[in-house]
Amino acid sequence: MNIILMGLPGAGKGTQAERIVKEFNIPHISTGDMFRAAVKNETPLGLKAKSYMDQGQLVPDEVTIGIVRERLSMDDCKEGFLLDGFPRTVPQAEALTATLEELGRKIDHVVNITVRRELLIERLTGRWICPVCGGSYHTLFNPPAEAGVCDKDGGKLYQREDDKPEVVAQRLDVNIAQTQPLIDYYSGQELLREINGEQDIQVVFAEIQSLLRG
Ligand SMILES: [Zn+2]
Repeated sequence: MNIILMGLPGAGKGTQAERIVKEFNIPHISTGDMFRAAVKNETPLGLKAKSYMDQGQLVPDEVTIGIVRERLSMDDCKEGFLLDGFPRTVPQAEALTATLEELGRKIDHVVNITVRRELLIERLTGRWICPVCGGSYHTLFNPPAEAGVCDKDGGKLYQREDDKPEVVAQRLDVNIAQTQPLIDYYSGQELLREINGEQDIQVVFAEIQSLLRG
C-alpha cells in the first residue's frame, strides 16, 4: 500500500498519519525525518543536502528525490509506505512517479483530507494563552469556562501574534495556492481520494480505512 497523505495545516493530517501507519503497519515517511536521517547517516546525498541547508538554501529537487528514492528502497518500505510532506510541487510529483516506475512500483492512493478554509482558520486561530500561569486554551477544543478568562487564576487570555486570524489566513492562502497544482496533477492521474476532514477524528479514520481497504 503506497500512499501519499495530503492536508492543509489544521486538517488533522498528523493525527490520521499516526493511525494509518499503525493500522497498516507501514513506515511514516516525512520529509523532515528523511532529511535528518540522511544527514545523520552522512550518506552522499545527505551530505549534499546538508551543504545547501548550511548555507540557508533550498535543497534542489534532484537531491531531494534522490533521498526519497534511497528511503523508499529500504526494506521496511517493501509492503508500502506513507509519504507525508512530499511531493510539494508538480515537478517533484513527476520525479516521484518516474522514480517509483524505475523501482517497479507506483502510488496507490493520494489521500487528501479536506476542510473548508473558514473552519481551518477557526481551528488554527483558536488558541488563547494565560499570561499568569502560561496555560493554553482553545475556543473549539478546550474552551475556558468564561470566554477570555483563565479558569485557574482569572488571568486575561491573549492570542499569540502567529495565531491571529490575519496572519493565519495569509499563511493558509499561500499553502492553498501551492497545493492546488499538486491536487490537479493527482486528480488527473485518478489517484486523488478526498476525505471530509470536518468530521470526528474516528469517522475520518474509518473512512480512510475503508477507502484503503476498498
Ligand atoms: Zn492562568
